[in-house]
Amino acid sequence: MSDTKIPLAGVIGSPVAHSKSPRLFRHWLEAHGLQGHYVPMDISSENLADALKTLPKLGFVGANVTIPHKERVLALADAVTDRAALAGAANTLIFRADGTVHADNTDGVGFIENLRSGAPEWDPASGPAAIVGAGGASRAVIQALLDAGVQDIRITNRTKSRAEALRQEFGTKLTVTDWVRVGDLMDGATLLVNASSLGMVGKSEFRISIDGLAKSAVVTDLVYTPLETDLLKEAKSRGHTTVDGLGMLLYQAVPGFERWFGKRPEVTDATRQAILAE
Ligand code: NAP
Repeated sequence: MSDTKIPLAGVIGSPVAHSKSPRLFRHWLEAHGLQGHYVPMDISSENLADALKTLPKLGFVGANVTIPHKERVLALADAVTDRAALAGAANTLIFRADGTVHADNTDGVGFIENLRSGAPEWDPASGPAAIVGAGGASRAVIQALLDAGVQDIRITNRTKSRAEALRQEFGTKLTVTDWVRVGDLMDGATLLVNASSLGMVGKSEFRISIDGLAKSAVVTDLVYTPLETDLLKEAKSRGHTTVDGLGMLLYQAVPGFERWFGKRPEVTDATRQAILAE
């Protein structure tokens, strides 16, 4: 018998039963023939600090973090990457051999890798990017677009103050458009990102006109339930390249898997099918 330790990782949230991550990680472990386990862990807010101290001692090498702990883990971690600090949230924790917890945020990487893979023709220098929504996901999208070299980002949000706060934080490459003048947001934009929950199953519909987009514009939706949102259907019918939100979920998991299990996993059609299969 080998005494090599089998790496353990998982996703921490509450509730966590809905998370697609365990299925994704199992698929990658099998696809790459690796030993390891990835488990859902329903941990309440009051037990979070104890859990982060205990898991490394139990052999866990890291964890993904989901609602409602993504913000709180920043204060509990021993070290925080710049991108997690900027996002104000972490989705990936690394438990180091010395017991310290390092917090990272890979949502931005997931967003941009998904965009580049689904729309390889998209050029950050081609024109303005338009974003609907100013929540947690929007922060990661803004950072990723700035890193990719986009010079002009327009943002709108139902609650304007949230968009204004992002403008304060990210600087002058960001401009805020009034929710009631959302048509201006689209005008000539070469990328549209829905970073709001509009269009998600059980939420309000996305009813914003996309008439003004540049003909070559790429349209991407962070919402992935349904996989093809009404926004993406409409955009596709107008001839725009569309990119759904499932890929972002898959790509954001790549750095954690690589770190914990020692192999960079591929995002393929089989990966998508493994997640979509009930
Ligand atoms: P969040 O922080 O709760 O923000 C929600 C956003 O949606 C806010 O901008 C909010 O506007 C807006 N919104 C909600 N209901 C609205 C309505 N009726 N009319 C207009 N705007 C409305 O959530 P988040 O974490 O940023 O996530 C946003 C979406 O992205 C969710 O659907 C989430 O599932 C998805 N997401 C996907 C991935 C992925 O991997 N594909 C990753 C992260 C998030 P207000 O500020 O006015 O409330």
